[in-house]
Amino acid sequence: CEWIDRLAPKAFAVVAIGTCATYGGIHAMQGNPTGAMGLADYLGWNFRTKTNLPIVNVPGCPVQPDNFMETVLYLLFFAAGLAPVIPLDEQLRPTWLFGKTVHEGCDRAGYYEQGDFAHEYGSSKCLVKIGCWGPVVNCNVTKRGWMAGIGGCPNVGGICIACTMPGFPDKFMPFMDEPPGGSISSVASGIYGRVIRNLRRITNHSVNQEPKWRHPGSRLTTGYHPHTYGFSTSG
Ligand code: SF4
Repeated sequence: CEWIDRLAPKAFAVVAIGTCATYGGIHAMQGNPTGAMGLADYLGWNFRTKTNLPIVNVPGCPVQPDNFMETVLYLLFFAAGLAPVIPLDEQLRPTWLFGKTVHEGCDRAGYYEQGDFAHEYGSSKCLVKIGCWGPVVNCNVTKRGWMAGIGGCPNVGGICIACTMPGFPDKFMPFMDEPPGGSISSVASGIYGRVIRNLRRITNHSVNQEPKWRHPGSRLTTGYHPHTYGFSTSG
């Protein structure tokens, strides 16, 4: 804390990287003997740098590397007078990085919508019933991926345990249990989704067939009417 006390008042920008630095994370969970906390809890949520910038939080356990580098780059553009003040949400996260939920970018969201859920790992279906918190978690990892655009927890079979959230980990434990709200919404989408899935199966079967006029022989059955275009082929 001594270094924070000495550096923060002189800093151009104060950036917390990772969920421990932003909100306390695992070190600040219930029952911890350390009194650990995130930077905004320590300096105050209304803290301003000498350039009048709020603290910038880039959470994640660990932080998604491109999210961090992009935030630093944005602040450098701001320092050069080439970008406006960084847009942050109430938890001081860059809005363009954390404005959407994991669920909104998830490869498996189509399964959720159709009420088609995994009940064990290794399935390609939606993971909500085995503990995914994606529908209520602000994080772009399903869109951005992890390394070079590849990965992103649910996209590659891992449940979202909400590691970018201020309530992490306490509010999301025990991990791997179905989230309480998830059972209500998944029951609803399970009923609706089953109907939609069956209707789509019928339509899918239909559009998987070629139109009936594609057949050998000289007889044209496409429905083409030459008179429509003002001339006739007869005579
Ligand atoms: S796996 Fe998680 S994030 Fe993906 S669709 Fe299911 S609930 Fe949403």
